[in-house]
Amino acid sequence: MSANDDLKALIRTIPNFPRPGIQFRDITTLLLDPSGMARTVERMASATQGPIDLIAGIEARGFLFAAALAVPLNAGVLLIRKDGKLPGATIAEDYALEYGQDRIAIHEDALVPGARVMLVDDLIATGGTARAAIRLIRKAGGVVNQAQFLVDLPDLGGADKLRSDGVTVDALVA
Ligand code: 5GP
Repeated sequence: MSANDDLKALIRTIPNFPRPGIQFRDITTLLLDPSGMARTVERMASATQGPIDLIAGIEARGFLFAAALAVPLNAGVLLIRKDGKLPGATIAEDYALEYGQDRIAIHEDALVPGARVMLVDDLIATGGTARAAIRLIRKAGGVVNQAQFLVDLPDLGGADKLRSDGVTVDALVA
C-alpha cells in the first residue's frame, strides 16, 4: 500500500472515452463517496503552503475541489471558466488542444494585484490547461506558485512543465 491507494481505489478507468484509445480516469466514483471526498480535501489542505488568498478551480471538476478547499483554508474561490460563460468584462487566454484550441477566462477585476492564488484541478495530463490558467492568473496580477491535482498522469509530462514555470505541483494519485 502506498499513501493514497485508498483514493486511487475510488477512481475508475473508462476505456475509449472520449475517443478510441483514451483511458479516461473517472473521478465521479470518488465524488460519490463521502469519506473519499473528505480525505481528498483534508490531504490537499495539509499539502497547501499557505497563506493563500484565492483557490482557482478550472471548469468544471476543478470547481468542486476549489470550493471544498476554500472553506478550511479560509480563501476565496476564483472560477477559471470556459470563454463566454462569465457575465462581466473578462480577460482570456488561449491554449492548444490535441485538435484545435480552447480559451479560458476570468473576470478582469477578479484579482487584486499580488493576490496569492493556488490552482486546483481534478487531473493534470499534458498540462496545457493548467499552464494557460497560470498565464491568465499572472496576466491579471496574481501570484501563483502552487498547484494541486487529485490525479497526475506523469507520462504526459504536464507536472514537470508546471514546475519549469516556477510552480510547486502536488498530486495525490498517479
Ligand atoms: P491537460 O490540459 O493537462 O492535457 O488536461 C487536463 C484537463 O483535461 C483537466 O481540466 C481535466 O479535467 C481534463 N482531463 C483530461 N484527461 C482526463 C481524464 O482522464 N480524466 C479526467 N477526470 N479529466 C481529464
